[in-house]
Amino acid sequence: MAEKHGCVQCGTGSEERLLIQCELKGKLEWVCARCLPMFIHGGGH
Ligand SMILES: [Zn+2]
Repeated sequence: MAEKHGCVQCGTGSEERLLIQCELKGKLEWVCARCLPMFIHGGGH
């Protein structure tokens, strides 16, 4: 069974946008291609 994933930031699913699995704070999360730069450039605070 295929589990549905969504971007941890915006909730977009892989039907709409490329999702990349990342490890964040020891947890595996999915991040879409659009939100990934925010994590790379250290959004957060
Ligand atoms: Zn996103």
